[in-house]
Amino acid sequence: MGPALVAVQRTQVIRCPIAPDRVARELSALERARLRSREQLQQIRGRVAGLTGPDLAAIFDAQLLMLDDPLLVRRAATIVMEERVNAEWAVQRALDELAEVFNDVADPYLRERKGDLLDVAGRLRMNMRGEQGGPRDLLQDLDAPCVLVADELTPSAVVQLDWSRIRGFATEAGSRTYHTAILARSLGVPAVVGLRDLTQRIPPGASVIIDGDTGEVTIDPPPAERQEAEARARLAHRHLPPPRAAEGPAITRDGIRIRLEANIERVDEVAAALESGAEGIGLYRSEFLLAGGPPDMAGEDEQYDVYRQVVERMAPRPVTIRTFDVDERQLVRPLVDAALDARWFPEPERAGRGGLRGIRFGLAHPAIFKTQLRALLRAAVHGRLRVLFPFVSSVQEVRAARAFLAEARGQLEARGAAAGQAAAGIMIEVPSAAFTASLLAREAGFFTIGTNDLIQYTLAVDRADERVSDRYEPLHPAVLRMIRHIRRGAVRQGIPVSVCGEMASDPMLLPLLIGCGLTEFSMTHGALPMARRLVAETSAGEMARVAARVLTLGTVDEIERFLRDALGPADVPTTEVNTR
Ligand code: PEP
Ligand code: MG
Repeated sequence: MGPALVAVQRTQVIRCPIAPDRVARELSALERARLRSREQLQQIRGRVAGLTGPDLAAIFDAQLLMLDDPLLVRRAATIVMEERVNAEWAVQRALDELAEVFNDVADPYLRERKGDLLDVAGRLRMNMRGEQGGPRDLLQDLDAPCVLVADELTPSAVVQLDWSRIRGFATEAGSRTYHTAILARSLGVPAVVGLRDLTQRIPPGASVIIDGDTGEVTIDPPPAERQEAEARARLAHRHLPPPRAAEGPAITRDGIRIRLEANIERVDEVAAALESGAEGIGLYRSEFLLAGGPPDMAGEDEQYDVYRQVVERMAPRPVTIRTFDVDERQLVRPLVDAALDARWFPEPERAGRGGLRGIRFGLAHPAIFKTQLRALLRAAVHGRLRVLFPFVSSVQEVRAARAFLAEARGQLEARGAAAGQAAAGIMIEVPSAAFTASLLAREAGFFTIGTNDLIQYTLAVDRADERVSDRYEPLHPAVLRMIRHIRRGAVRQGIPVSVCGEMASDPMLLPLLIGCGLTEFSMTHGALPMARRLVAETSAGEMARVAARVLTLGTVDEIERFLRDALGPADVPTTEVNTR
């Protein structure tokens, strides 16, 4: 619970309450932006005058005057000091006040000068953003604890935030498998995602309660409700189950051994994974170590140190490290940002999800890819490491990736560095890979089924898009058939197959997956104790019969009803882990 900090990326203006010692920094950023804007406008004016003569150049005379108008920059400075907010927001506020004045002007010529005003304010804001310390920096420097309310919140922003100052968050984008939601679960941060129009409904500074258990966000709650929520929050903290030590292997009621591993995004989760009894790391999303920066910034030694730490701390348990599942945009964005004018345009609404990402990115950027592979092979000397290639969609890609792995090994040998043994496996998360599982099984050392992407691509439902998140159906017959098909492909070839998508940590779906013959799962460590209990209560034989019947049913509703009846109410815990 806390005052709402509303961050709207699409319009790029964030109102941020700032600490007293930040006021001076914001004021000088504002002044520098004014001076830079002045220089730019003078240059533009000179260029236009040379090209078209003095008439058009006068537009920029007017803009220069606006820049010096006390009602704009000086007013913004006053807002920064009085309200202790960031300068960018203050400029926006001053602009809104001035725009009101223009709206009331009767003379249409003068009224239209509002366009120039917007232009000047836009330039000021752009120049402030060129400064070190954009919104992300502001979010780390908050005045008081608050609740973050955003249209979108990228995982890279989440990992950099100071969570001692942010009590929870709610976003417009997203669903259960939104990466940011996955991260919230691993951080234990209350979060509600996928709420349309949220940033328009919550005024900045409004008091907000985030209830991650029920998926509810309450705006301006009456005092009684606040007190009740406070009491519940305290209770939830006090009653957090103590981390369970490993309690021996997970075995079903009828004696089938189930392997339970942890998904991690950050190295410091290893301790929690071990405490929850993880038998290994089934998925380390290595791209999170880039924290949103371009992949070519992570050097071989730096990566090696991180991978080695994970492998050593987990030893003798195996660790599966996925090569960067990044989008090419992450590489080119800093270049785009560097081009001044690019900042005038809003960010693309959402990163393309079927673009040059995952293994495609690695193959297209051999230097970055081989750097990572060398770091992985070096780390493999210190324990059991498996290399995992994401977003594979064809046999050629696996062959090409393995050739790079061999080349990376050759490079290490040539310089006399030690390279360990590492199985090379692939994520099955794209329908083309699922359909060709039996062919891919000949090329890969192991499979891990990424149900998050597999569902989104099979059903053509963007998992981050709240408008279609109700169509994101793990129990869709197409999804279940695909999983069965993938498992068969692996089993016939005799390679291991696990499930590492969020399906594995869903209390209703885990028994069904066991019934489909799957015996290895990787999930957020917070869900491992639940999974262990559930496995002990499940009969794999009974679930195999349930799965056989489920696979004959035609609709999600029929499947869900049948499954609920089969599992019985007691077997289906109703709460999910931390977030919805
Ligand atoms: C998946 O797609 O299921 C998966 C585990 O990978 P990610 O969620 O990182 O895309
Ligand atoms: Mg995936």
